[in-house]
Amino acid sequence: MKILISADMEGATGVTWPADVLPGTPQWERCRALFTSDVNAAVLGFLDGGADEVLINEAHWTMRNLLLERLDERARMLTGRHKSLSMVEGVQHGDVDGIAFVGYHTGAGTEGVLAHTYLANSLTGVWLNGVRASEGLLNAQVAAEYGVPVILVTGDDLTCEDATGYAPRAHKVAVKDHVSRYAAVCRTPARTAADIRAAAKLATALAHRHAPVGGGPFTVEMEFDAAHLSDAATVVPGVEPSGERRAAYTNGTMYEAIRTFKAVTTIVSASVEEQYG
Ligand SMILES: [Zn+2]
Repeated sequence: MKILISADMEGATGVTWPADVLPGTPQWERCRALFTSDVNAAVLGFLDGGADEVLINEAHWTMRNLLLERLDERARMLTGRHKSLSMVEGVQHGDVDGIAFVGYHTGAGTEGVLAHTYLANSLTGVWLNGVRASEGLLNAQVAAEYGVPVILVTGDDLTCEDATGYAPRAHKVAVKDHVSRYAAVCRTPARTAADIRAAAKLATALAHRHAPVGGGPFTVEMEFDAAHLSDAATVVPGVEPSGERRAAYTNGTMYEAIRTFKAVTTIVSASVEEQYG
């Protein structure tokens, strides 16, 4: 049995502030150890539960945050950027039985610690077939297309609530309780590691690959905080204006939809000016 862990950082233990997740800052150096502790706890829990193989896919920013040297030696880690399926790279090869979203967060335009969807700012909302979408929801749909269930989600309490919508059966662990976008009541790493390990062990029982779920076509609509950014998004073929500061596209599969989304966010982030947005 093989488990894939998609590891994002905003929802890690102790993280509440931009510098906590910004590579190169002293706070990031400290928080990457807390992040590694969460991920390793999930690895240990899955191994306790009977998994033969655990692959971690780094999913935050430069995708080079976790401390490989502090992970259990039975784990393997995919690190670095430019991967076909980005945050859920590795789910597409037909050998993954369950996926875990560790350190996840709520979506753009909603409440939650460091809430966003791919872009730290700029995007004020993303909808998939009319439903407001977090990264968790989008990535769960990609995984479903390969028949892989989401079995564990960790992050703040609102992230766990969000996950009840897209992965009702998954085990959830709140490592902190949301107070504001930049504040949370945090549990200690010793506490959260124990909670994550116990939940991951139970979650292993849910890891059963099923028939791929189709469900297309998939329409993704995005709202930006400035009109020039929705204009920039329409540079990507197939992306059309859909309202004030909005753009939308439709693809037949989530595989295509998530790749179009990556193209849009790459172009939009290159169109943001530091001072005037
Ligand atoms: Zn994220």
